[in-house]
Amino acid sequence: MQINISTSKNNQLVNITNDVQSAVAKTGISDGICFVHIAHTTAGITINENADPDVVRDILLSLDDIVKELPGFRHYEGNSSAHVKSSLMGNSASVPFKNGKLQLGTWQGIYFCEFDGPRSRKAWVTCIAEGKM
Ligand code: ZN
Repeated sequence: MQINISTSKNNQLVNITNDVQSAVAKTGISDGICFVHIAHTTAGITINENADPDVVRDILLSLDDIVKELPGFRHYEGNSSAHVKSSLMGNSASVPFKNGKLQLGTWQGIYFCEFDGPRSRKAWVTCIAEGKM
């Protein structure tokens, strides 16, 4: 199942937990594992705190500090830092679900990480029933 994500900033974390939860519910599978994958090279997926929005802000601030635009970069698109951030965050996450509910911690959310926005993006959600893996 595909999730559409519209980002509004160059660097942004978008909480897609509700979209992923809805995709799981639509499968009708009770127990299993949910894979979230993005087919983008300048974006990422991560699971982190959903309570204090300053955590998301601090993650973006830290990534900006870790990944600098280097004068030696050669990539013709000029967005090498976005590619590096994408690799640091990874492009997939997997979450088990029970009784159709994602087994995330109370403070966990699934975030789409935009590093070269704003853009229209997509994530793929694939669920496998427990015992059929
Ligand atoms: Zn590029």
